[in-house]
Amino acid sequence: MPQPKFELSPQYDPHHVEPPLYRRWLDRGVFTARADSSREPYVIVMPPPNITAILHTGQGLNNVIQDVLIRFERMRGREALWLPGTDHAGIATQNVVERLVAKEGKTRFDLGREQFVERVWAFVRETGNTILEQLKVIGCSCDWSRTRFTLDEAYSRAVREAFVRLWDEKLIYRGHRVIHWCPHCLTALSDEEAESVETSGNLYHIRYPLADGTGFITVATTRPETMLGDTAVAVHPDDPRGRPYLGKKVRLPIVGIEIPVIGDESVIRDFGTGFVKVTPAHDANDFEIGVRHKLDMPLIMREDGTMGEEPGKGAGGRVPAPLRGLDRFEARKQIVQMLKAQGLLEKVEPHQHAVRHCYRCDTVVEPRLSDQWFVKMQPLAEPVLADYRRGAFRIIPERWRATFENWMEHIRDWNISRQLWWGHRIPVFTCVKCKHQWADRTDPTSCLKCGGPVEQDPDVLDTWFSSWLWPFATFGWPEATPDLARFYPGHTLVTAPEILFFWVARMLMSGYHFMHAPPFAMVYLHGTVRDTLHRKMSKSLGNGIDPLDVVRLYGADALRWTLVAGSSLGADVILDPGDLDTTFAPGRNFANKLWNIGRFILAQLPERVQPLAGLDVTALPLADRWILSRAQATIREATTSFEQFRLDEGAKRCFDFVWKELADWYVEAVKPRLAADAGAGTSLRDKKTQSLREVPAPVSAAVLAYCFDTVLRLLHPVVPFITEELWQKLPGRRPEELLIVAAWPEPQAALANPEADQQFPLVQETISSIRMLRAEYRVPPKVRLQAAVRPKSDRARQALAGERDTIVRLAQLSELAFDGARAGVGAHAVLADGSDVFVALEGEIDVQQECRRLSGELTRLDQQLSALGTKLTNQNFVARAPAEVVAREREKERAWRDQRQALADKLKSLGCS
Ligand SMILES: [Zn+2]
Ligand SMILES: [Zn+2]
Repeated sequence: MPQPKFELSPQYDPHHVEPPLYRRWLDRGVFTARADSSREPYVIVMPPPNITAILHTGQGLNNVIQDVLIRFERMRGREALWLPGTDHAGIATQNVVERLVAKEGKTRFDLGREQFVERVWAFVRETGNTILEQLKVIGCSCDWSRTRFTLDEAYSRAVREAFVRLWDEKLIYRGHRVIHWCPHCLTALSDEEAESVETSGNLYHIRYPLADGTGFITVATTRPETMLGDTAVAVHPDDPRGRPYLGKKVRLPIVGIEIPVIGDESVIRDFGTGFVKVTPAHDANDFEIGVRHKLDMPLIMREDGTMGEEPGKGAGGRVPAPLRGLDRFEARKQIVQMLKAQGLLEKVEPHQHAVRHCYRCDTVVEPRLSDQWFVKMQPLAEPVLADYRRGAFRIIPERWRATFENWMEHIRDWNISRQLWWGHRIPVFTCVKCKHQWADRTDPTSCLKCGGPVEQDPDVLDTWFSSWLWPFATFGWPEATPDLARFYPGHTLVTAPEILFFWVARMLMSGYHFMHAPPFAMVYLHGTVRDTLHRKMSKSLGNGIDPLDVVRLYGADALRWTLVAGSSLGADVILDPGDLDTTFAPGRNFANKLWNIGRFILAQLPERVQPLAGLDVTALPLADRWILSRAQATIREATTSFEQFRLDEGAKRCFDFVWKELADWYVEAVKPRLAADAGAGTSLRDKKTQSLREVPAPVSAAVLAYCFDTVLRLLHPVVPFITEELWQKLPGRRPEELLIVAAWPEPQAALANPEADQQFPLVQETISSIRMLRAEYRVPPKVRLQAAVRPKSDRARQALAGERDTIVRLAQLSELAFDGARAGVGAHAVLADGSDVFVALEGEIDVQQECRRLSGELTRLDQQLSALGTKLTNQNFVARAPAEVVAREREKERAWRDQRQALADKLKSLGCS
């Protein structure tokens, strides 16, 4: 045996392998895409994590999927660009820093705008990009030279450009309407940022006395505190119950003022009492009614959610002194008490309803009349929807189609102003003197019209107003950069379905509007990472798994493998945070197995391996033709799976090839040939002439090297580190070669062999069935048996004869006869194609003892069958027991009868009396 060129450590140690390899990839610049490359580009823009984020398992899954796709396409020869970056995350980041400031006993208002924003920048500089460093640890091959931040200087110019263009196109307007307001964050929120949560609350039925003293009208509400802002009671004009009251007035309890009863078609007919209270300043529907009927719109709650009028908003003493300053929920209790005391609370019913919560701080959102900036969305949505229906881009899984279309069809205008300090300040300027208002790309010093002093809008833009430009602002838009020309539009977007509307839909709209093309051809919405109780992993539930803990324990490849193999297309991934060892065992075990297979194969291979191209494949032994054919099938299937985002199937196909076909069968089959060939393929110094003489490399080594090389390539996108490490050590590899940029395998028609695909399984089956018979008849492991086969067809005969030595060796035989007479004691098995296998057991096992054992088993089985028979003929049992219990018992009886038949056959074949 030649000395191996190197020693692979017996145990795979990811911590030893992964960090230096990542550094090597970085140093070689293989992650960096070139705009001047002649290769066809393949572009993924990363959903930018929040600048303050720490990697969680959901993002781990998201980024691993992107990395698999980018590595796959990079190996397929595309100019692969995976653009990373972070989001300044307006509310989220501001909240984090506000909490820090609160620890010093201060608020942002104590610091003032400028100083507070400086604090946020300091915090971002200090802690930002943590998550990008973590992505490196799990192997993400992003183009770090193009890392972007949604608040960096160039990006800010893009945001401002987009705003000004929309303004000039009159797609941005000031809206006076009821929006979602977070009393904790003190800002407006978009519809998407105010998340609906099903809540058990109460429905309060309140009596509003008629002003003329003739009775009362009952209204129902879930938020009784808002009654202080009621300016009408409405009923559907066609509801007969309402007709006698239209035009009358009711006296608003607690406040004591009179409000009209009006007819409005938006009121749902025949629901409840038919009457609803109208609070235009604190309910979006009521606001619409208020506009139609020109009602007053008093605000009776302050921005922080306490009761009270805003100065100058004309609520006119609606909030009684005892309620003023009370938190809205405390006020609710008190108002209910007051109504009860006045006999105006008719009843309180438990009520399930959706309550909106702030997506950043979970506070219950308050609908509130406010002035905000809006984007007109319908003109932006129309081309997207039309092109989606034409198939210009796809969203998978397809089941999202209806949701997406429905949202786009009924799109609502987008509230983009936030009463925050951290973010892109809205570039709208107003002249103090002449009130002229415009949006500007640069900060003006004076009014364009009259030269008077100007003021900038104090609000900032919704974070998503910057990230919706991500697919092109990151490439330098609005400048016509080479990157923009080369890498827009991109190809695949991989994201969680939660941000389909926040982000994906809006990116599509901005892409069509500003770039006239969809930013990607394919949107892949992957599943959610959940615990074993199917709860989404979250910090607040404490059921998360830190991906970096997993890397520390088992390595990045183990993490990646487990995530990829556990996630079928768009389906959730279930992980057990309580048992990391079991959860990540598949990945860890696979890495170890691959390492061990690699160690063995690499030790067997000579220094130089003949390329397959020069071989006459048809002349190879069956095992070789079979494994080469299986390799072609694996290439085809893995490639198709990765193309169709069925990453788990691709990974599993490679797993089966390397483990169940290559290691379990081919390597075992060729071991003797490898040993016999040892020494070939090396250069020997001729003793006489002292010249080097090439010894031809053996065929088995060539096949083995090709197969292992192939599967390492196929597995690289999923488990990049261990595959790169092993691939580097294949014979003939030059030190500068890297698997990460090696070519993806192409299936070769000449190596596909349908005949071998059918024949070799007969060899496998023969060996397996003899092994099974050995186990069943308890043949000691060292005993070599005589066996005989009776092939059913010429093809079977050819196959078994061709691999006769393999069968003899792997089934532990002393002899394998064809068509021989089968005399004496023995056992036989029938293969799937009808070929027959017989093993002689005479003298190999203690027949008498085996007969006694088998008879004993038969007796026991007979007793069980008899007891079960009695039970099943008992009408009492059959009639009373649940049907599935009876069915189970009948199934059991059938199985036992089969076992009994098998035992009887065995006893007969051994000649037991
Ligand atoms: Zn909030
Ligand atoms: Zn002016």
